[in-house]
Amino acid sequence: MKLLLISALLFSPALARADHRSDAVQVSENKGRNQIVIHALNTDDTLVRWVQVQLQNADNISADRPLPARAVLQPGQGMDLMVLRVSDPSRGASYTIASSQGFGNPDVQPDMSVAYVMPFEHGSKHCVTQGYLGTVTHQGLYALDFDLAQGTTICAARDGVVATVKQDSDTGGMSTYYASMGNYIDILHDDGTWSTYAHIELNGSLVREGDRVKAGDPIALSGATGEASGPHLHFSVQKARWDGDPETYATPFMVDETETAFLTEGGYYYSWHPGGAPFDRVFAASIDQAALEQRVTPVSGGKVRFREEKIDNMAFLYCANPLASPIELKVDFAQSQNVQASKDLPFSKIVPAQSEVFLMSVLMKGQSSYQTSFSYRPLP
Ligand SMILES: [Zn+2]
Repeated sequence: MKLLLISALLFSPALARADHRSDAVQVSENKGRNQIVIHALNTDDTLVRWVQVQLQNADNISADRPLPARAVLQPGQGMDLMVLRVSDPSRGASYTIASSQGFGNPDVQPDMSVAYVMPFEHGSKHCVTQGYLGTVTHQGLYALDFDLAQGTTICAARDGVVATVKQDSDTGGMSTYYASMGNYIDILHDDGTWSTYAHIELNGSLVREGDRVKAGDPIALSGATGEASGPHLHFSVQKARWDGDPETYATPFMVDETETAFLTEGGYYYSWHPGGAPFDRVFAASIDQAALEQRVTPVSGGKVRFREEKIDNMAFLYCANPLASPIELKVDFAQSQNVQASKDLPFSKIVPAQSEVFLMSVLMKGQSSYQTSFSYRPLP
């Protein structure tokens, strides 16, 4: 009796959206008498990859193990996934193999003792404008948005191998219409998890697929491609899953030489990369305003004028009086939105002759603006 064997290999789209090589794991059938060995080969020489194989429309054939058959394959590794046997050799058999695959390791337990470095240059400070599970575009996502201006250098947050570089788009906007037009880089870590750096500018990658990078290395320039209201970095860490989209999760970051923390929306953070030079840290929230009130700085020349010092989400207002006599200053905001002054307005203060003094701080909440108006009269 001649064995009639009909089979088909069917590839479902790779579940990892990011994957440029969705066919890197090759699934093959080695047919023998009354049995077929299903083999998987990871042809990628840099990335660990997973493959999952399911048997469909099986008639008169059975697998030697529970399905789906799953494997995590190191670069270049091959493995027999399962053996199929014809149940009744006296008649024909047929089946279809369906497979899905992607990079990374769905079986990994993320190591929470690994601290990530800030994905921007050592010594620079940026704000988390949308945090984990944020309500604008991070619903259900453990992702962080950092306020990086167009063209700011993005750094690797953890060692790894560059798995994906997409940098051919110059288009972005604040609607889901633009979601597929974003540029991004994926860096696969040695444990099979990976980081995604999104919205980078056109041709904004500084690395190539397959490159090995260290935490802190410059990898890209920020932009506003994809679904973005303006230039920023969207950063997330994730692991592959056998049954669907990658799973994002929160990770601790180094916030200085010794401390790690989970980052929160609205927070300002300095980047400290191991081995970097020491630097001073200034946070608006920890500035001692009572001490500023006591400070009088000598000035000379010109007119009565204001100085505004912006730190984080606060502005610190100063007035310089170069005149030979003290003045009584009255200051008010002509127009303001989403700001909160530390003093009641209008505010008046005596500014000594040839001196600069602190007036007030202004807290800016989101999209905010203000314009100062002032008048003064010299005192005897
Ligand atoms: Zn985001």
